[in-house]
Amino acid sequence: MKLSNQYHELGKNFYHETFPLPVSEPELLLWNGPLARTLDLSFSVEEDNELLGQYFSGNQLIKGSKPIAQAYSGHQFGHFNPQLGDGRAHLLGDVTDEQGNTWDVQLKGSGTSHFSRSGDGRCALGPALREFVMSEAMSALGVPTTRCLAVVATGDAVYRERPYPGAVVTRIAASHIRVGTFQYFAVRKDIESLKKLTRFAIERHFPEIKITPRADERSTEALLSSQNALDFFAAVLDKQVALVVSWLRVGFIHGVMNTDNTAISGETIDYGPCAMMNHYHHDTVFSSIDRDARYAFGNQSQIIQWNMARLADCLLPLVDEGEDIALAKITPLLQQFANDLQYGYFEMMGNKLGIAELVEGDIELVNDLLAIMQKQQLDYTQYFVALAESLTQEEVDNFIEHAAEAEPSEQELWLTRWYSRISDDVVAAKALMEKTNPLVIPRNHHVERVLAISEETGDLSALHEFLAVLQQPYDNSANTKLYQDAPSDGDENYHTFCGT
Ligand code: AMP
Ligand code: MG
Repeated sequence: MKLSNQYHELGKNFYHETFPLPVSEPELLLWNGPLARTLDLSFSVEEDNELLGQYFSGNQLIKGSKPIAQAYSGHQFGHFNPQLGDGRAHLLGDVTDEQGNTWDVQLKGSGTSHFSRSGDGRCALGPALREFVMSEAMSALGVPTTRCLAVVATGDAVYRERPYPGAVVTRIAASHIRVGTFQYFAVRKDIESLKKLTRFAIERHFPEIKITPRADERSTEALLSSQNALDFFAAVLDKQVALVVSWLRVGFIHGVMNTDNTAISGETIDYGPCAMMNHYHHDTVFSSIDRDARYAFGNQSQIIQWNMARLADCLLPLVDEGEDIALAKITPLLQQFANDLQYGYFEMMGNKLGIAELVEGDIELVNDLLAIMQKQQLDYTQYFVALAESLTQEEVDNFIEHAAEAEPSEQELWLTRWYSRISDDVVAAKALMEKTNPLVIPRNHHVERVLAISEETGDLSALHEFLAVLQQPYDNSANTKLYQDAPSDGDENYHTFCGT
């Protein structure tokens, strides 16, 4: 394995060169073999166990590594912080797979950097394992996400409200460029670097955008046309639609959608305070620091629009030197984004109900169901599975035929409407529902239970059993039903935390 260093080549104002700080006793706890294979990493977990512990704790550098802490700013809960940056992460470099896709290899919890402020640069074992479980589950659910390659225990204590065992987690991402990375240069009015960053992001993520230098400029490599900047923005917006719509499909609450935690690639990043919704409620929040419910489940579409408006702010000078002209060009893209999000959302919700193409009345059908689910506290995952299971031609015909006979409940009235809507092709509807609605999600109470066992006993077999089921969330396996239950208390006292 040999790393390249594309981001490093951008120049020193994009990062601080800094080495991971050694740990006492690295021990490889989790290794993502399938991911390693897709990246063409030729390690064997049996033969190279010790070496992997050395590499993925940061004690020994993988060939080609040029470790850096990336610079970025960010709006945190709406408040701008001009200097954040990797305070406990080291980007070692990147690998390019056989398909030609390039992936960042980053250690997290690997020591302090120029950007650590008062932080210790470390990560506790529980949150490292949690990131591994959650991101693997999301990936299998078909949600765009960063992945975890490894978790290595450090043998050192990490001090939070008490000492915890420490760990380093290796994150694989299409890139670690955030909205906050653009903000870092925009707030410093460093237009050259903004152009360089945009060019880099286009080449990494959107090679279909052909870079055409502006005719009126003669300078060297940082050139980029106004149209390139607009096309880039439009491409980023498309990625965010796919991202947020899939979060809403599976009941994921990111919990801390700050602009520094919003990746340009459209990957879910930063699994700190995230959680899964149980019963449907628009306002569901679990993060202990999100007191105003800014990042509640049902607000995520609004927030991504706010975050993308912040990205638009940064791109304005690349679109036109006149701010009014630039605004006039970029604003329609944000309006289109709002429409795309809304359409994408209802199309996805239609799919959850076995509807392949929306017709008039479908949006109402979706909204009426959600109102019932919210009122009756119906479980978001279980209920769609139950609806799919109820689908047989016989059941549908029977239900419609006898609908008028009894005094129907609100739910039965809704079922009659839905059954009538899909009665044309029940088999196709059921098939669509089965691939849209997961049987199993990484439910908070199971995640916490499995993490507690792992941390207390050091025995990871419960975690591996859970992961095996999470890897096939749409298929029934022998163990699936063990993880489908909703928490008995509805997770009413469940709180997640940032700054893990
Ligand atoms: P996060 O809440 O993980 O998105 O982190 C927000 C900012 O705090 C980023 O700049 C992180 O690098 C930094 N940070 C979080 N935890 C630590 C830590 N333990 N030590 C140093 N910096 C940290
Ligand atoms: Mg972050």
